[in-house]
Amino acid sequence: MMVIMRDGATDEEVQHLIDKVKSVGLDVHVSRGEFKTIIGLLGDTAKARELPLSAFPGVEKVVPILKPFKLVSRDFKEEDTIVKVGDLSIGGNSFIVAAGPCAVESKDQMVEIAKMVKKAGAGMLRGGAFKPRSSPYSFQGLGEDGLKILAEAREATGLPVVTEVMDAGDVELVAEYADVLQIGARNMQNFLLLKEVGMYEKPVLIKRGLSATIEELLMAAEYVMSGGNPNVILCERGIRTFETYTRNTLDISAVALVKMLSHLPILVDPSHAAGRWDLIEPLSMAAMAVGAHGVLIEVHPNPEDALSDGAQSLKYNKFDLLMDELKKTGAVFGKEM
Ligand code: PEP
Ligand code: MN
Repeated sequence: MMVIMRDGATDEEVQHLIDKVKSVGLDVHVSRGEFKTIIGLLGDTAKARELPLSAFPGVEKVVPILKPFKLVSRDFKEEDTIVKVGDLSIGGNSFIVAAGPCAVESKDQMVEIAKMVKKAGAGMLRGGAFKPRSSPYSFQGLGEDGLKILAEAREATGLPVVTEVMDAGDVELVAEYADVLQIGARNMQNFLLLKEVGMYEKPVLIKRGLSATIEELLMAAEYVMSGGNPNVILCERGIRTFETYTRNTLDISAVALVKMLSHLPILVDPSHAAGRWDLIEPLSMAAMAVGAHGVLIEVHPNPEDALSDGAQSLKYNKFDLLMDELKKTGAVFGKEM
């Protein structure tokens, strides 16, 4: 980290800053130019982030050099992390498809969907038992009953299950049934929840917050990894912009950037990004082309009756077509599917 002092900052101001920085255990490298003094901070600069350096007298600008995330960083681990979920490998050259309804609605329906998406080639089953709904009057999910249904659908198909956990107090319960713990976009910065899932070994899928920067997404992953859980998968699911034709805007560049900055696998959720079924195929193709390690797709036998997110859910026949396209394109890109 570097602190650039204003033109004409006094010796006292420079010394005051140096004293303060040294008092938290850091060393300094001072470079005095004709007009400007630049102070380089040496040592564990995480300590310097605790100091409001830009508020010190005489300071013009604070320039961070080291990234705030460590364990998730490519600098820390060069090779791609492959997260194992049963027999499934997520990361590296593989491209996985997790598919299923937005919410678990009933046992018969869930088992039917699981069989259909498995037949089409999906590698994982998705479905929410605890639903983070914008309105308290909307369907909130079946809770533990929904988890039991997911486990039955896994039993019937062998597909591992990814499902959301919304509350730190529910992690133990959800972990009993799920193969991957999903942290939803609205909870990406629920730090108590991140710390809790960090205490498990179970893989964690972290969805990017609606207005979260890429760095904030990576810091959420840092929470989980620093808690001791290395099995983290990231997910770009669209961010809030001024555009209204889509529910969110899929930030495709985030995928490429995350792959440069981090060794962790990253999936794309075109369903929640677009909010409309007719964009799922082109956005899935874009996800594959940009280097995502897979996609999360909402599928429903009868979207018009879905209890949530019907507008963005694919019917079975559309999901089959999507899988065909992904397999064909995956062969061109040399993806393992
Ligand atoms: C979901 O995947 O069911 C979900 C609610 O997604 P998000 O948290 O990305 O909105
Ligand atoms: Mn949904």
